[in-house]
Amino acid sequence: CLILAIETSCDETSAAVIKNGNEILSNIVSTQIDIHKRFGGVVPEVASRLHVEQITLVIEEAMSKANVEYTDLSAIAVTEGPGLVGALLIGVNAAKAIAFAHDLPLIGVHHIAGHIYANRLIQELHFPLLALVVSGGHTELVYMKEDGEFEVIGETRDDAAGEAYDKVARTLKLPYPGGPHIDRLAQEGSANIPFPRAWLEEGSYDFSFSGLKSAVINYMHNAEQRGVEISPEDVAASFQESVVEVIVTKTIQAAKEYDVKQVLLAGGVAANKGLRASLQKEMSIFSDKELVIPPLSLCTDNAAMIGAAAYVRFKQGKLSSLSLNGNPGLDLENM
Ligand code: ATP
Ligand code: MG
Ligand code: FE
Repeated sequence: CLILAIETSCDETSAAVIKNGNEILSNIVSTQIDIHKRFGGVVPEVASRLHVEQITLVIEEAMSKANVEYTDLSAIAVTEGPGLVGALLIGVNAAKAIAFAHDLPLIGVHHIAGHIYANRLIQELHFPLLALVVSGGHTELVYMKEDGEFEVIGETRDDAAGEAYDKVARTLKLPYPGGPHIDRLAQEGSANIPFPRAWLEEGSYDFSFSGLKSAVINYMHNAEQRGVEISPEDVAASFQESVVEVIVTKTIQAAKEYDVKQVLLAGGVAANKGLRASLQKEMSIFSDKELVIPPLSLCTDNAAMIGAAAYVRFKQGKLSSLSLNGNPGLDLENM
């Protein structure tokens, strides 16, 4: 089974060819980060235009690198949502054109299902499992009883973890995207500033990062007003410890309560060294639960993960029609 997958939900134009849902024959990613950097964040109109320029080239490169012809393919998969609507539409229309021209089944994929299934590209999945999704737009704990079944047991009530990283980075005058810069600084600092931890109600698996973000901004503002020198390393380390402690504690609690076989890490913030180290340490208390962490290249947006998620839908006969549309508000649970 060969699936050509396309991803254009945000600022990466990507195409991949995936064999049997877990083998990457090609995974071409053209990132727009250098262009959006100038504006301090992703500009939707600019993103759409760049996807239009790149999409054909990226698809052709993915096909030739995989050494396959359209007649070899079993299906075309594409990110249906969530994401920037103008960006999604470029991928969806490219996929529809190929599906129509070559009479291939079309599969719309949820972007977060893609981030989760990136793990299948490196490891066999065992259910039930728990996925910790930490990306630029999402922070969620997702319980999966079976293949293709998603139950969101907790999610952020305000900012996503990656968003909080990027905003705190901006107050420290670090370039976009700020997550990797904070991570690097945090390794050199000490977590000696008592920033708050948002535990929310007892037993809740929801998250909140806006209070922490405001606490960091206030801390910087006060220091500036009083003319006190701050240590960016210590601010980064203290902020990161607050984020990681809450995320990891809730993940471990959920892994126990739901008695899962695996915990999967997913999304761009999964690249965070502090988060990876803490999760590895805390998960080592379980002898019957495995932690799976994808390599960095599969944590950030890419089409290979979309192909891996599409394979499950293909096997389950969950195909889309040629009237498929980009859906920025697509719901993971009711796909
Ligand atoms: P979504 O998947 O929710 O639509 P997205 O695709 O834009 O959002 P990703 O590409 O998965 O998000 O992740 C990007 C985010 O990851 C950015 O916010 C970035 O700052 C953050 N990030 C990347 N590396 C690190 C790191 N080492 N530490 C913390 N955050 C990081
Ligand atoms: Mg991105
Ligand atoms: Fe993403």
